Amino acid sequence: MTKPYKLIQRHIRPEGSAIQVGTSSIGGGSLAVIAGPCAVESAEQVFAVAEAVAASGARFFRGGAFKPRTSPYAFQGMGEAGLKILAEVRERFGLNIVTEAMDEAGVDMVEKYGDCIQIGARNMQNFSLLKYVGRATKPVLLKRGMSATLEEFLLAAEYIMAEGNYNVILCERGIRTFGTHARNTLDLSIIPAIRRTTHLPIIVDPSHGTGRNYMVEPMAMAAVAAGADGVIVEVHPEPENALCDGAQALTAEQFAVLEQRLEMLHGAVNAEEAVMSRA
Ligand code: PEP
Ligand code: MN
Repeated sequence: MTKPYKLIQRHIRPEGSAIQVGTSSIGGGSLAVIAGPCAVESAEQVFAVAEAVAASGARFFRGGAFKPRTSPYAFQGMGEAGLKILAEVRERFGLNIVTEAMDEAGVDMVEKYGDCIQIGARNMQNFSLLKYVGRATKPVLLKRGMSATLEEFLLAAEYIMAEGNYNVILCERGIRTFGTHARNTLDLSIIPAIRRTTHLPIIVDPSHGTGRNYMVEPMAMAAVAAGADGVIVEVHPEPENALCDGAQALTAEQFAVLEQRLEMLHGAVNAEEAVMSRA
C-alpha cells in the first residue's frame, strides 16, 4: 500500500461509482441536483419547496430536521416530526430524501424516514458516528469538514467504508480562510483532486460554500464545469423569513432557472468530454 487508503482508491473502479439513493443514483455520469430548505420548518414550507423542486426535474430533496447550529438558542430543527414531513414529500412528489443526522439515534431515524444520511461538516471527524453510519443500510452524503485536508476528508470516507457501507457520496461545502466576502471559501480545486484519487462521486454545496444568494448560481455552474457529479442547494419560499440560512437561499424561481442552466451545462461538458476522448 502506497497510500493511506484502501477502499476509496480510483483504480478499484476506474469508471467511477454510481451510488443508489432511493429510486435514483448519484455519480456515474449523471447530474444530481439536490435541493430544498436548510431546515424543515413546517409542512407548508416544505411542500411549497418540494413542488417547485419536483417541477424543475430535480430528483433529490434536502432539508434538515436536526440542525447543527452555532448558537444553542437558535432553531435546532423539528426532529422526528420534521422527518415525517420529509417522508411525505417522497410519497407526494417522488423525490429522494437527503437529510442530516447528528448522532446515533438520529441515524436510526433517518434510516427509517429518509433515503440518504447526511453527515455534516462539523461531524466529519466524529469517528464513532462515521463507524455507526458505516453499519447503516442507507447511503451517506459526507460533507467536508471546514478545515479538513483532502487526506482527512478521504480517510473519513474510508472510516465509513471500512465498516461495510460502500455507498458514500463526498460533498465540498467550503472551508475557512481569511476571506470575508463570502461565508466560506468554496474549494473547487478539490474536484479534480478527488476525481483523480477516488472512485466516489463528488458533489458541491454552493449555498454553504458562499453564504450569499447571488453567488450560488455562478459557483454551482463552476462546480459542474469542473466535473462535479452534482450540487446541493438551499431553496426557500420566503428567504427573508427563513429560520436558518436565509441569506444563501434561492427562491423557487431562481432555482428553476439554475436547474435548467445546470442541465444545459452538464450536457455541454459531457459532449466535450466525449469529443476529447475520441480525439
Ligand atoms: C446543511 O447542509 O444544512 C449544513 C448544516 O451543512 P454543513 O454541515 O456543510 O455546514
Ligand atoms: Mn443550511
